[in-house]
Amino acid sequence: MTTQTKDALVLECETGNYHTFCPISCVSWLYQKIEDSFFLVIGTKTCGYFLQNALGVMIFAEPRYAMAELEEADISAQLNDYKELKRLCLQIKKDRNPSVIFWIGTCTTEIIKTDLEGIAPRLEAEIGIPIVVARANGLDYAFTQGEDTVLAALVQSCPNLKPSTTVDDPAQATFIQSLLQWPLTNTGMTANASVPKGSAPQAKHPPLVLFGSVPSTVVNQLTVELNKQGIHISGWIPARRYSELPELGPDVYVCGVHPYLSRTATALMRRKECKLINAPFPIGPDGTRAWIEKICKTFDIEPQGLEEREAAIWEKLEDYLELVRGKSVFFMGDNVLEVSLARFLIRCGMIVYEIGIPYIDKRFQASELQLLEQTCRDMKVMMPRIVEKPDNYHQIQRIRELMPDLAITGMAHANPLEARGISTKWSVEFTFAQIHGFTNARDILELVTRPLRRNSSLSELGWTTFVKDVSPPQGPLGVASHPATHGLRTSEESGKGSAKVIDVKSTNVTLPIA
Ligand code: SF4
Repeated sequence: MTTQTKDALVLECETGNYHTFCPISCVSWLYQKIEDSFFLVIGTKTCGYFLQNALGVMIFAEPRYAMAELEEADISAQLNDYKELKRLCLQIKKDRNPSVIFWIGTCTTEIIKTDLEGIAPRLEAEIGIPIVVARANGLDYAFTQGEDTVLAALVQSCPNLKPSTTVDDPAQATFIQSLLQWPLTNTGMTANASVPKGSAPQAKHPPLVLFGSVPSTVVNQLTVELNKQGIHISGWIPARRYSELPELGPDVYVCGVHPYLSRTATALMRRKECKLINAPFPIGPDGTRAWIEKICKTFDIEPQGLEEREAAIWEKLEDYLELVRGKSVFFMGDNVLEVSLARFLIRCGMIVYEIGIPYIDKRFQASELQLLEQTCRDMKVMMPRIVEKPDNYHQIQRIRELMPDLAITGMAHANPLEARGISTKWSVEFTFAQIHGFTNARDILELVTRPLRRNSSLSELGWTTFVKDVSPPQGPLGVASHPATHGLRTSEESGKGSAKVIDVKSTNVTLPIA
């Protein structure tokens, strides 16, 4: 079986089932990000149970989300959708008085074709609170698409930029910038030197809006990095408050920070006629540098000190790099961050056998794919195959053959793989960790190396194997296990009887809420 090609990236498509969280889980991080919002998920008991489980830890935090549970009378159209939703929204207004209510559609509203978009404008005029309708549901490929759907819906609510306040073209903006900087350049100072560290300079280029939900610390870090290059961010989607949404229009440049936001990018270009900066994503020092360089290039700005900045970060990562160099990794595909993470790990010296990914928008990820190709050439490694919509059965066969040091996988496959002696890392952890920007590269490697470090620590203690006393029946994936039959043994003990010896595993990871 061929798993790699030599010269160019190969994109394949299998016809596997989706094994992903439901995208309505995006509520868990978006309601915290947009502080004055309320999320109303309109679905059935199943959705309620899922949210309760996924967000159960927030029960004491007075969350700003709720379930509108559809019952038989709703589904059989005996109740009036409009009246029911009005009743709920008035209740939300009375209890929480949010600046915006998000209606999150589900599989059920999709299947019974509830006209949420038709009801929302009438209702928001009546109750006086804007309503944003986002159809995030289990019919999507990846759970991260929930955020994409909400942000794409939010684009429509952004105010329009008045054309007179912008400069049309980057070349013109740069000319104006050079005029403004004339006294500085004549005194030997640079524009950057005149800008205090961390402060936002005056915009001397067309407006730049970034999109993607990241914690405020990451927002600050990326803002500071761009400010150092004399680039000012006009706003973020999502903003901290609904009233702070940035102005959008044909003169506005937009750039994404997550690889899974292709719908948002399309909405920005089609509905608001914004100009998309197609850059690699700011994940890892290499990606962050390439992301900043691309933005600088768009605005005709010469990047300052980026090479040194990147080199300094790599130097600080050396303790982690020693652990990962030469190790192999296999991405099963789960959250659409796979290409960016694989590119970073190849740069770290790892061998990537396969990049499984639930779906890939090749246009939105074009620069990231180019950077991946370039990274493979620079590191003189073979190009990994990219498998869209992977068939897990076939992936397991490939994993069995290749025996990678680490598989980055969705939760469904982690335990079965561990039971087969493959170390795993849940891909969902990369979704909730802070992985963007120069300094957060450490956090990515912290996650990647955790199973590798755990294995070596346990072997130092003599706990080298994980023993399964009873061989369970083999399913189609060739894996099955029951916790009651598992136990840790030392290597001497593990050789006894009919026990099956496999590597040690750990499952004590909780779902973090960003
Ligand atoms: S939206 Fe669909 S997939 Fe998601 S929890 Fe509800 S029923 Fe399940």
